[in-house]
Amino acid sequence: MTDQVPQRPERSRVLAALEAVPDPKSGRGLVSAGLVQALVVAPGRAGFMMEVETGEGPLYAPVREAAEAALMTVPGVEKAQVALTADREPAGAPGTVRVRRGAEPEPAAHSHERPHAHPHGHEHRSAAPTPQPVVAGKPAHVRHVLAVASGKGGVGKSTVAVNLAAALAQLGLRTGLLDADVYGPSVPQMTGARAEPKSVGGKLLPLEAWGMKVMSIGLLVDEAAPMIWRGPMASSALNQLLNDVVWGTAEEQLDVLVIDMPPGTGDIQLTLAQRVQLSGAVVVSTPQDVALIDVRRGVSMFEKTHVPILGVIENMAYFPDPTTGQPIEIFGRGGAQKTAAALGAPFLGEVPIDPALRQACDEGRPYVIVAPDSPASIALLAMAAQVAEALNQGEGLKPAPRIVIER
Ligand code: ADP
Repeated sequence: MTDQVPQRPERSRVLAALEAVPDPKSGRGLVSAGLVQALVVAPGRAGFMMEVETGEGPLYAPVREAAEAALMTVPGVEKAQVALTADREPAGAPGTVRVRRGAEPEPAAHSHERPHAHPHGHEHRSAAPTPQPVVAGKPAHVRHVLAVASGKGGVGKSTVAVNLAAALAQLGLRTGLLDADVYGPSVPQMTGARAEPKSVGGKLLPLEAWGMKVMSIGLLVDEAAPMIWRGPMASSALNQLLNDVVWGTAEEQLDVLVIDMPPGTGDIQLTLAQRVQLSGAVVVSTPQDVALIDVRRGVSMFEKTHVPILGVIENMAYFPDPTTGQPIEIFGRGGAQKTAAALGAPFLGEVPIDPALRQACDEGRPYVIVAPDSPASIALLAMAAQVAEALNQGEGLKPAPRIVIER
């Protein structure tokens, strides 16, 4: 992460710039023509995916260049990237209903007919075929999929995901950890699982670390390149991570697959939430007001997709005074709990700021395993127990051993 935060371009200006680029087929602006998919506007950057019909690549290559040039004119855009794919079936072609598996970045992009997307996201479908409902799927031999999400980056989502997964494994559940954070996969770093995954019979074997099966998008794509800009590649990598990895077998099912989601509530996240049959989600936040606004977005994203919210976690909730151990409340405290209550979501607890936790993360060691008696680990272990219990109520996980939390 850089210290200097670049300016964030205005989304409306980005859309206006793209609308000024004509679609050679329809003559409409790119946005009206439905060609702007999985748009990402981030500080210093903007990009999107343009999916066109098979064989139309040469026609759209100059459009892609024009779109990138248009993005570069928007204040705040220092880097523009448009990913062009030309493998969509022509509209109306027979037998073009897509089999929906795993995660892809933008629902509209994968409809078998081309929707005419409105700049505000409303679609006008002109022809008769009814759009196919999105069918959420679960990876084979996995009983529960749990999403760990956050409204924004830097709140400790990955830290919580890694430690929750490690704690679930400690509780005796067969646990997998899938790092789907296309913006910055950190699970290899946080678990030390860095080897290249082996492939057997066309399927990838997850790495084994700390009693968990671990897979990361960082293990499949070049870590140095900015993954965020490679919509189709990130999409197929996520798909592969979910469906082409041996998470379990008929004899040995995986009890829980914890997904470290990309931060935020944009298209990629929404699509993941829609396409994967999630048993539940936890939303991680810090106590600041801005983070809490994002919690609302996170909770509402899962509500929209009918995913049960298992709870909200307040991370970096307080700093224990080094001499007395008493909490020093840096950002104010209890905000996430109040927000959770206001949203009708359970509150799973708070994790204090602990420099040793950060260090353990940096060194690839789950804190709940290497320092189980620390207040942060006690909190995380208690959260894992609550999560296991909540999942258990859904459908027969093997009973999680009860752990007694002493404070
Ligand atoms: P996110 O996944 O939300 O972007 P990370 O999990 O990568 O956030 O955490 C961001 C940084 O904050 C990491 O360096 C991590 O070690 C540190 N961190 C997270 N939670 C805590 C905590 N409770 N105490 C101390 N450092 C933390």
